[in-house]
Formats: sequence, structure tokens, C-alpha cells
Amino acid sequence: MVDLKGQYEQIKEQVNSSVLDVINSTAFINGPEVHSFQKELEEYLDVKHVIPCANGTDALQIAMMGLGLEPGDEVITADFTFAATVEVIALLRLTPVLVDVEPDSFNIDPAAIKKAITPRTKAIVPVHLFGQSANMDEIMAIAKEHDLYVIEDNAQGIGANYKFTNGNVTKTGAIGHVASTSFFPSKNLGCYGDGGAIFTNDDELAHIIRGVVNHGMYKRYHHDVVGVNSRLDSIQAAVLRAKLPNLDTYNNARRTAARKYNKAFEGIQNIIAPKVKGNDCNTHENEICDTCNCHVFHQYTLRITNGKRDNLAQHLNDKGIPCGVYYPIPLHSQKAYVDDRYNEADFPVTNQLVKEVISLPMHTELDDEQIDFITKTIIDFVNS
Ligand SMILES: *Cc1c(COP(=O)(O)O)cnc(C)c1O
Repeated sequence: MVDLKGQYEQIKEQVNSSVLDVINSTAFINGPEVHSFQKELEEYLDVKHVIPCANGTDALQIAMMGLGLEPGDEVITADFTFAATVEVIALLRLTPVLVDVEPDSFNIDPAAIKKAITPRTKAIVPVHLFGQSANMDEIMAIAKEHDLYVIEDNAQGIGANYKFTNGNVTKTGAIGHVASTSFFPSKNLGCYGDGGAIFTNDDELAHIIRGVVNHGMYKRYHHDVVGVNSRLDSIQAAVLRAKLPNLDTYNNARRTAARKYNKAFEGIQNIIAPKVKGNDCNTHENEICDTCNCHVFHQYTLRITNGKRDNLAQHLNDKGIPCGVYYPIPLHSQKAYVDDRYNEADFPVTNQLVKEVISLPMHTELDDEQIDFITKTIIDFVNS
């Protein structure tokens, strides 16, 4: 699914020497590499504060702790996402409220958000799933009208742009009140272990969060709030510093692969290729263009509409082609998150997508020969 080795070969010298420098300096925790990476990422994202932490799941949890959400507060998020998003809501004894997604972007449906709002709703967590921004024009408008926080789960969207209908362009993760991301190795900006970060433009919130990640301390050994221990280590920061200047190139390479996949699947029955929904790309007839940069293809995900998805996955396995089903079970049907408030009729899209989606190999090192082999194998099988 990913080719971390091929990507490493390109930056080997730099990564090796900066990792060795960290080891020689013994500044393993909160060393200068962490601080430099933080500054460089702030600049790249054009966001005032980046607070590094241990992983993307922590980042989400810490964002919610920083906002002071309290048990019983309702937090609306997508039914079709990785479990981490809903897990931290439940862990903090907040009430997760799962809602349906859009069939073309796979992202949270603003109409479903509106329907789910109650007097107890405190926040919305849009996930920029598979590398494309959720509809932030509508989500920010809903949040403003109902006085809600917006926490962007940007684990899959780092580097993507969002173009507002008024023409403003912002990086995902710099739009809501606070955002989280993950540097898990297979993410678009991945380190060589675990890592994550929280972003915000709010000075006060950034100050609170810097204490939360550090045992609730604002002054050494003075614990003002209940915190956690969540740090990005210096070795991972050194890896990320080597990779950040290449992030746009990496995302372009992913888009190039997506474009080739889309071309191969054009007009093929029973296969729906991913759509780019950005406000800019709409004007470009759904072209996957590097200028708009509104989809960074963390995953390239097809819908197989004739009931053969599982057979196709088996067939690809037999042929030695990696694939994945993200995600096979709606969160509202997971044992840990079932809730009487849910009604199957409220999740028609997610219930359909879990039966149809299949993600193909997507990384920065895919070549034409691999893409030809993958697409031919799929097309031959689906309509045979
Ligand atoms: C990867 C991911 C996370 C969690 O990141 P970790 O670093 O693995 O904890 C959270 N949300 C989404 C949408 C993800 O894809």
C-alpha cells in the first residue's frame, strides 16, 4: 500500500545525519529539533501555533481537553472515519454523535450535522477523509450560528488547500478553532515511529494546550489542570524536518498517481473513481490539478457498485496487489459505540460505502507499470 523504503532512499543522507546528530547531542526530549520543526510547520501551514505531541489520537484528545469540553457535552463527527476520532470523544466522557457522510467526497454531510444539533452540542469534528477537505464553508457557518467549536481531524489531509467560496485559500488544519494531525509512518507527512501535532490560531488556547501536553504544568511542578504526557521525540522531529520541505512534492506525486488511476477507470461500468470536490476543482471539471491542491490523496478509494468488492479484494490479494477496505464497518454499528439514539435510516450513505469502498496502493513511488497492472487487473475482474 505504501513504499516507505523507496522514499527513504531519496532522503537517506540527510535523515541519517540529522538522526545521528540528535543521538550525539543526547537532546532526546524537547530538543532543538522539536522546536525547529514546530516553527517550520507553523510557517508551512500559515498557522500561529503548532504544538507537537505523541500521536494523532492524543492530538485529538488534547484538543478537546484544551477546549474544556465536559462530560455530557455532545460532539458531532462522521460515522465513516477511523475509530480514533470517536474513541477520544468517548474516553473524555463526552457524548459522540455520529452522522452520515456525502457519497462523492466521503466527508461529513453538513445537512446531517444540522439535523443532529441539540442544546447540548458543543463541537463538530470534521475529518478531511482520504486527503480532501470537508465542506468547511458550511461547517464554519453552522458552527458560528450555533456557537460550536470546530476541531479538524487533519490526520489524512496535511498539505491540502481549502478554497472558500469567497476565494480565500487556507490549508486544512488552519480553518477551525483547533486541529489535530498524525505523523504515523504511512500518513502523507510520516515520521519513523509515532508522532502528532495540534494546530491553532488562538493564543490563549495554544497556551492552555502547551500545559495539557506537559502534565498540566505552566510552571515547573505546579499542576494547574489535569494533563497528559504527550511529546514528539527529537529523533522523529529530525525525520520530519527532512521530509517537510518535500511534502508538496510528495503530494504532487500522489496526485499524479491518482490522475492516472482516474484516467484508467474513466467510463468503466460498476467502478466509481474518487471525485475532487474543491471549489476550485469544480471549475476545472473535476480535474485533479496540482494548482488547486485540494486533494492530497492520503488514500485512493474506489466504489465497486456491483456487489463484487469483497471478491475483488480477494482477487487482488491472489495477484499480489495490496489493497485495503477503509472502513468496513460504520462506527455507529461498532459494539463500543452503539447508542439507542441512532436510527439506521440516518446512515444510508455510510451503510452503502462500507460495502463498496476499496483503497488501492497510493504513495510517492508508484510508477506507470505498476498502475497499468493494478488498473487492468481490476477492470478485467469487475466486469467479467
Ligand atoms: C491516523 C488517524 C488518526 C490517529 O493517528 P495516530 O497517530 O495513529 O494516533 C486519527 N484520525 C484519523 C482520521 C486518522 O487517519
